[in-house]
Order: sequence, then structure tokens, then C-alpha cells
Amino acid sequence: MRILVLPGDGIGPEITAATLTVLGRANDVFRLGLSWQHEEIGLVSLKKEGTTLPLRVMEAARAAAGVILGPLSTYEYPPRERGGINASGELRIKLDLYANVRPARSRLGVGLTGKPVDLVIYRENTEGFYADRNMYLGGGEFMPTEDMALSLRRVTTRCCERIARRAFEAAMSRRKKVTAVHKANVFKISDGLFLREVRKVATEFPQVRLEEVIVDAMAALLLRDPMRFDVIVAENMYGDILSDEASELSGGLGLGGSINAGDELCVAQAQHGSAPDIAGKGIANPASLILSSAMLLEWMAARHSAGALAQAARAIDAAVDAVLRSPVTRTADLGGPLGTREFADAVAGKLGEE
Ligand code: NAD
Repeated sequence: MRILVLPGDGIGPEITAATLTVLGRANDVFRLGLSWQHEEIGLVSLKKEGTTLPLRVMEAARAAAGVILGPLSTYEYPPRERGGINASGELRIKLDLYANVRPARSRLGVGLTGKPVDLVIYRENTEGFYADRNMYLGGGEFMPTEDMALSLRRVTTRCCERIARRAFEAAMSRRKKVTAVHKANVFKISDGLFLREVRKVATEFPQVRLEEVIVDAMAALLLRDPMRFDVIVAENMYGDILSDEASELSGGLGLGGSINAGDELCVAQAQHGSAPDIAGKGIANPASLILSSAMLLEWMAARHSAGALAQAARAIDAAVDAVLRSPVTRTADLGGPLGTREFADAVAGKLGEE
């Protein structure tokens, strides 16, 4: 099975190389039969080819068994007409990767507040407030006059229904609770539609308890009592913001894995950005992309009923835990002495140990 590897910008190439060290070892130990196809995107391909996302890369993604996507310096991209395409958004929309799955679990033993965290966010990934990708033609953000800017949000029954379904399915193999995050006290129509679809799906899962929480209260409750939450389902932007909060609470932004999953394809992508402030220094924490890749293997295992992939995913997850447990095998962001490459070597070294 072929995995497309897109290193991206900033710390992307460093954490992608580290991730491939771990995946390469898992490939050998568990005999996964994976191969890698490398393609350049982002600022490198903008310079060489005039676009941050060449067409052939989209074609390669469609044909791949899975994709590993490094972070992108999208803030530095020129407008789309001058080649600045956000590959992350483009892949999500064009390949219909509608579920952004972002777990947060306290891996260092304690979270930021010293409270345990064990939750997973199911974030709708294809519409909502993201005006650069929520219209069929044209953008949802525009300026009717030079002193007025407008942004439109799109909410559809289809997208709410399918993300709610994935969340309830996930809850069935967890603590059987779904929290739907909304702002229906203000957005009575659009968030009202989201809640209507979530409630409909909930009737098909009588064993799962549904709780509804307004997004601003949610930001506080997450800090106050993180273990109250098991599976969280949210529209695009609420999910994006809350997942950074949850990840930080669980020990750090560099720790949370994340996948963008559709019915046909899955893209592993770290939760954090391209960290230009530390790019090229060899000190970035690669754990988020490593864990995202383990989630990709898990997704592929379910799709292809492949036990070895599932076993490899669990082993990588456990290896990251084992390496993080000791302060002397952590990266600089967690107060440890290891560089990006050394951390990856330590994780790879744990695979196949027992
Ligand atoms: P960021 O996540 O890149 O960085 C925030 C802070 O966290 C920085 O101090 C950074 O050094 C640190 N950090 C992030 N990842 C780390 C890691 N793995 N190890 C150690 N420290 C880490 O967010 P930002 O600074 O707001 O954005 C930088 C760029 O990334 C922007 O161009 C933005 O558009 C882009 N971005 C991309 C994605 C993506 O590709 N998915 C997501 C968010 C932001």
C-alpha cells in the first residue's frame, strides 16, 4: 500500500522525516508492506512551480492508500490567483474528508491543570465558518465596500448528520457519552439545524448519553472538569479552537494526533502549525505527526480489515507514551533534552522490543 508523504513548510520536513523513521520501523517489525511516495507542496513548490499545490499531487492523493501531511505556513501564502492554495483545506474539500478526529489524552500523566484528560473531538471539516472553502463557486468572504467585510457560514443537514454519526459510533467503543457543542442561543437557525441533526442521530444510539453545551461555557468546563467529556462533536471552527485547548490541557499542543477522514481516504496531519520560529533547528516535537500517522494506520486497518496495521498503530501509540514518561526523553517544548531526530529514534527503538 502506497502512502503519499507531503512534508509541507516550516518544521514540516523535520517532523515528517522523524515520523517516517517510526513508520519505517513499524513497517519492518509488523510487515505492513507500506511504501512511500514523496511530493513537494507549500512554499518549496510555489518557488519551483508557481503553486503551493501542484495538480499531480491531488491526483497522487486520490490514488494513495493514505496521506501524511506536514504543517503549512498558510499565513505566508500569496492569494490563490498567485498560486497560494491551502493544501489542507483543498484536500479536505476535494477528497471529502469530512471528519477531523482530534483525541486529547494526558500522556505525561498530568495535563496543564494537573487533571486527567481523555476525550476525542469530532470536528466537522468541510463547511461552517471556513469561508475559503464553504462555497461551491467563489468565496464566502467578501467586501461589498472598502469599509465593510462580510463572512458567510454554511451549515447543512448532510454534513451535520454524518459528523454526528461518526461521533456516536466512536462513543460506542468509549465511555458512551457525546457532547454536542453549539451556540444555538445566538445562531438559532444554523446551530439549531446542527442540534436538530445531532438529536436525530442520537435516537439511533440509545446506549449513548447526549449532552448539549454552549461553546463559551464549553471552553470553561473543559478546564474545570475535563473528564466530564468523552466524545465531543462540533462544527468546524468551534472544534478547531476547542481541540487546541484540549490538546494543551492534555500536556501540550505538540502532543495531539489528528486525522482528516472521509469514507474513501484519510490524511494524517499534526494538530499544530508550521512553527516558523523554531524551523530548521531540529528541536520540534514530532509526537503529534507520529501519533497522527498511528491514527492513519488505525483507519486503514478498519478499512482493509488488516490486523497488523491495527497492531502497529497501538504499538506506536504505546511507544510514544513510554518515551514521554521519562523527563530525559522529552523534547525541548516539554522541558526535555532531546531533538526531533533523537525523539523519533527513541520511539522507533521501542517498537518490537517486547
Ligand atoms: P503554530 O502551531 O505553528 O505555533 C504555535 C507555537 O507552538 C509556536 O511557539 C511554536 O514554536 C510552537 N509549536 C508548534 N508546534 C510545535 C512542535 N511540534 N514542537 C514544538 N513547538 C511547537 O501556530 P502559529 O504560530 O499560529 O502558526 C504558524 C503558521 O502555521 C502559520 O502560517 C499558520 O497559518 C500555520 N498553521 C498551519 C496549520 C496546518 O497546517 N494544519 C495549523 C495551524 C497553523
